[in-house]
Amino acid sequence: MTTAYIGLGGNLGDRNAHINSALKLLSDNENIELVRTSDIIETAPLVGLDQPKYLNAVAEVKTSLSPQGLLEELVEIETSLGRVRKEKWSSRIIDLDILLFGSQVINEPALTIPHRQMHLRSFVLKGLCRLNNNLVHPVLKETVSVLAERLNGRDFFLNPDVPQLVSVAGVIGVGKTTLAENLSGLFGCKSIREAYDKNPYLPKVYAGEKELALDSQVFFLSSRVAQLNPKNLPPGRITISDYIFEKELIYARCLLSAEQMSLYEKTYRSVRSEVAQPVLAICLIDSAENCLKRIHKRNRPYEQKIELGFLQDLGGDYDELFAHWKTCPVIRLLMSDFDCENAEDLQYLAKQITSYIVDAAVIASPP
Ligand code: ATP
Ligand code: CA
Ligand code: CA
Repeated sequence: MTTAYIGLGGNLGDRNAHINSALKLLSDNENIELVRTSDIIETAPLVGLDQPKYLNAVAEVKTSLSPQGLLEELVEIETSLGRVRKEKWSSRIIDLDILLFGSQVINEPALTIPHRQMHLRSFVLKGLCRLNNNLVHPVLKETVSVLAERLNGRDFFLNPDVPQLVSVAGVIGVGKTTLAENLSGLFGCKSIREAYDKNPYLPKVYAGEKELALDSQVFFLSSRVAQLNPKNLPPGRITISDYIFEKELIYARCLLSAEQMSLYEKTYRSVRSEVAQPVLAICLIDSAENCLKRIHKRNRPYEQKIELGFLQDLGGDYDELFAHWKTCPVIRLLMSDFDCENAEDLQYLAKQITSYIVDAAVIASPP
């Protein structure tokens, strides 16, 4: 007998009754034992916002069937409850997906286990957490509760029509550029680097010429808008950037006077919708002390005046930003556990990234 987890959902007709009928049909099946079910929760449609809302639940079963055999039974239950298959992600009476089947990994045209998008859906992960907080995703090798934290309560879907931008975030000296460069080497993909060395105002600002802070921030803003222009980023292909666009506001708040800030913010708001959004953010976390050590070691002259307090403030601002982050999943990496130069650590991260993007080339031959 294998323990498997099944996702149930539907948004047409008597949604509750359909989920309960499906659960009844599962437990009536002689090869399936229904062990436990999560609460039924209401969720907004992932795509097609004009669709009615869904009810979703997760069930734990034990079965003597093969994964393919279980899928056949699920399709039969869907059909018996009146589901008519239309285009992908259209409204439906009932949908039954295999989320996990023991710790098996299956990649067949008609069956992917773990379910290809389960780690992008909070309603699935929360249901799984309720049933068993310590369940481990056999590809990502992380618990469902860690995967749920990455989503911050939101639901996402893999969208091949947008650039697969992966953005690395974190305070100065945490190791963003090293990581972004090493990852882009591994994936053989384009990387975008912050143009700090081209910013003519930056050394002067760090040297105390505060009146140039606005020039410096506007320089960065226009450079980022150009770099993250969706027209220059191929849809469905991975690109890695060593910053997130929103860092602009964090730095502006730290460096600009109130008067400069009000002018700056108007410009920021008028251009923010023009940039590509990341499909995944990787947030690097380390103590301000360790970041300062790296800053001293790499010895960019103008950075040497940076003080511990400034790095601590930045760290707090990044925490705040990601506490309310809605744009994409966030992988947090503690630099005490992760080495940007270590091949094994990079492989682990590459595997995580591959699960959150749709780059056909990358997924066909994972790095
Ligand atoms: P999503 O997979 O994003 O939840 P969906 O459930 O709306 O989308 P369906 O139209 O129900 O998609 O199914 C499309 C196909 O997915 C099915 O024909 C089925 O063969 C295949 N499939 C692949 N992996 C699984 C799985 N783990 N569980 C259920 N169906 C799967
Ligand atoms: Ca589904
Ligand atoms: Ca399905």
